[in-house]
Amino acid sequence: MAAGAAVRLSGLRKHYGEVRAVDGIDLTIAPGEVVALLGPNGAGKSTTVDMILGLTKPDSGDVTVFGSTPPDAIKRGTIGAMLQGGALLDDATVGEMVGMVASLHRRPMPVAEALRRAGIEELANRRGNKLSGGQKQRVRFAVALVSDPDLLLLDEPTAAMDVGSRREFWRSMQAFTNTGRTVLFATHYLEEAEEFADRVVLMRRGNVVADGSVAQVRALAGGRTVRAVVPGATDEMIAGLPGVTEFQVRGEQVAVSSFDSDKTLRALLAGFPGVHDIEIAAVGLEGAFLSLTSDEEETR
Ligand code: ADP
Ligand code: MG
Repeated sequence: MAAGAAVRLSGLRKHYGEVRAVDGIDLTIAPGEVVALLGPNGAGKSTTVDMILGLTKPDSGDVTVFGSTPPDAIKRGTIGAMLQGGALLDDATVGEMVGMVASLHRRPMPVAEALRRAGIEELANRRGNKLSGGQKQRVRFAVALVSDPDLLLLDEPTAAMDVGSRREFWRSMQAFTNTGRTVLFATHYLEEAEEFADRVVLMRRGNVVADGSVAQVRALAGGRTVRAVVPGATDEMIAGLPGVTEFQVRGEQVAVSSFDSDKTLRALLAGFPGVHDIEIAAVGLEGAFLSLTSDEEETR
């Protein structure tokens, strides 16, 4: 696998008239990372993915994929992509379609293996016009896999799938990422980002508004809440604990919001030996998502 960054975006910008679809993004993805590009409709996810693929030309800024331009990377079979509206052929079988794409590449994996990895071996002889929405998505996944790419780009891969196929899809995907490949997937499903990504890049109106592990993105938007019974607690003492952003003291009942609940808890235990009934709750990614994207206007 090539050295250096898998994907490097610098100052990437694409405007459509007044619409700042992507408004100056810097992002580096290391080989082997599984990154969710999370954001509401209209945030700029697809435009970003399309620029990484070289399908959309940036107004300014640079894209490199394993050190190459997108067209060179695609020519070498380094990038596999699964796009939302990728067309399939009605009259060709699934095996034929995946085979055609394989024949465009120098070192494809065997078609049967791509079908197996996408979980559609039994559909090899099915024609395009006989596939359900979820099955079509899996065919697109097989097409993306067959060049045996180092980087997989997926734009809302599970959009047309029911809950069962969604779970199946991610199981196949994890088998792929376990081989050390790099994956960038766009989604507006919080649970998918939370469950399947090592890193979450949160987009809003063409900008990256948060970037980190799921835990870090949560912490950005309020962290955790610590509740406990603290005999002898006073406002001053609680306010003085490390990490505290907000607090409430009602008699012995104490609730604090903290951006570093580990530190808060250690200090609480050290300062108040009688503390008991401790509860710590994480602000869900959903809470973080809502608070970071809250002024997003209603879209579609
Ligand atoms: P997402 O994938 O996060 O839903 P997109 O990247 O598709 O967002 O779109 C970002 C913004 O750019 C939206 O406001 C969208 O309407 C606009 N946009 C995207 N593509 C075009 C285009 N070809 N022409 C005009 N506006 C576009
Ligand atoms: Mg999109």
